[in-house]
Amino acid sequence: MTLTALLGLAACTPGSQTEQTTTDGPGLTGSTTTAAATPSTPSTVANAPTSTVSSAILGLVTPAGVPVAVLEELSAGFLVMTPCGFEVELQSGKPLGRTRVVIDPGHGGPTDTGAVGANGLAEKEINLEVARLVVDLLAEGGIDAVLTRNGDYTSPLFVRAHLADTLQADLMVSIHHNAPTPGPSDEPGIEIFIQKDSKQSARLGGLLWGQTREALATFDVAWSAAEDSGVMTVLNNRGDDAYGILRHPETTTALVELGYISNPPEADLFSTPEYPPVAAAAVADAVKAFLTTEDPGSGFVEGRVFNPRPGVSQDVCSDPELGTNADRLFPDVVDVVVQKEGDGRYSFDVTLSSPYDSPEQYADAWRIRSSDGTVFGVRELLHDHAGEQPFTRSLRGVEIPTEVDTIVVEGRDLANGWGGGTMSVDLP
Ligand SMILES: [Zn+2]
Repeated sequence: MTLTALLGLAACTPGSQTEQTTTDGPGLTGSTTTAAATPSTPSTVANAPTSTVSSAILGLVTPAGVPVAVLEELSAGFLVMTPCGFEVELQSGKPLGRTRVVIDPGHGGPTDTGAVGANGLAEKEINLEVARLVVDLLAEGGIDAVLTRNGDYTSPLFVRAHLADTLQADLMVSIHHNAPTPGPSDEPGIEIFIQKDSKQSARLGGLLWGQTREALATFDVAWSAAEDSGVMTVLNNRGDDAYGILRHPETTTALVELGYISNPPEADLFSTPEYPPVAAAAVADAVKAFLTTEDPGSGFVEGRVFNPRPGVSQDVCSDPELGTNADRLFPDVVDVVVQKEGDGRYSFDVTLSSPYDSPEQYADAWRIRSSDGTVFGVRELLHDHAGEQPFTRSLRGVEIPTEVDTIVVEGRDLANGWGGGTMSVDLP
């Protein structure tokens, strides 16, 4: 980062002038950025139930890699909520079903950098770097997770919350680095903010506290810490959660401030290659503990009362490129219906989306495989389906060993091979 030398120290969450705590919600006006878009109404979105035989599409990762919530399935594509909270139609993307974990990299975009260190490190960048590693670590452990923001763009807090709610997530963790700098401390000054009246948010926060403090204490740094640091609620004068990322979602959420980017020694640590994997592993371990134990966590302290300034709204929001079908390399599997035929055999009706189809490049097969790659059946497709998108084809009599509970359906592109959005389906 070079521009931060000009910006100096910008504040982060608590006591912050830049924190996004907008009360802006559904039905916002002021869509000055996207002529064709309309303010969305997330409250009308139904949470489609997941099924063991056919998985609903609740979200998409767009062709440019942007995670978005699906508002409605259309005859040829999807109505989605953009990162700014506008409704647009998308033809396709990698489908997201129910997703257990949502990781929120705080801040983003040109006006919401978050705190900025004296060394030029912007909070929005280190938040995203740590968040991406958390998602990778969880995936390695078999826990599906998505980001609320997968690039340097603006996204109001109600949109991030809506994505977590739409994906029916078990939990969301919002990742931040703190400012302004309090007094010196022998130990990391981690702060965890939790949702009021939520035992689950408290438990998530308490687990994050234990894991992150232990992990960061392995670094020898001149730490800083507030005297009342710990796991706490922060309420505004109305008695609501002061921070929007905790107030907006139905999803169990906790916000972690991993240290003070405004404190030069800590900013220097956060800029080292050693730091992000350690911080991310601690967050991932806390998430796993939340999902697999009843551990109540620790570090609970008296809450604060604080009234932050409203944060970014749609008025100053400019959506990132969502990508087009021209960027597509692979078909996406968008629906799977499986029926038991008996004798360890199954029939599959698989719907593929390959709206980029042309005679030269098209979806030319799909297959049924195990999660570790054993293939049980392949359906070849002999021509493009440019005039029939998405399209459904069947495969009967697929023999699958009795010890297999879950299969993966995957598409193939004539030019690029196997890839694109897959679907995991439990066998009936
Ligand atoms: Zn922040």
